[in-house]
Amino acid sequence: MRVSRIAPQEVKTRFKTIEILLIEDFAPDAGLFSQLLSDNTSAYRLSIVDDGEEALQFLRRNDGYANAPRPDLIFLDLNLPKRTGLEILEEIRANPALRPTPVVILTSSENEKDVNAAYSSGANLYVKKPGTLNQLEELMQALSRIWLEYGELPRAN
Ligand SMILES: [Mg+2]
Repeated sequence: MRVSRIAPQEVKTRFKTIEILLIEDFAPDAGLFSQLLSDNTSAYRLSIVDDGEEALQFLRRNDGYANAPRPDLIFLDLNLPKRTGLEILEEIRANPALRPTPVVILTSSENEKDVNAAYSSGANLYVKKPGTLNQLEELMQALSRIWLEYGELPRAN
């Protein structure tokens, strides 16, 4: 499949390298994300973790993650091994250093309970993943444009 990369020049570079964290256990989706956001400039950098426990270690900068970047934007799957996406979201919102960080839920669930719980726990956007790779690519292009090109992210102090 041909993937149109998000052109780095379209991304605002007003403060620093934008650190994006993707928490996703489904390798094909993570791979597509990684292809779309592959970048040889320093406009943004993508980190990917594939289970809930690892996500918490990354966010807490524990153990092997002492040098993990503070994410400027987080894409979070709900159904993950070891911890749920909701637990991770709750931890993000309970941590003053992470609290302002936008969290976009990207999940295969369209369950009303999940949608409401995610917004109640502080999600900034809830998106159900579409069924085909082409649609997923379109969605990721749209999300990248909104969050990286048009949207303002919290500024680091
Ligand atoms: Mg999953």
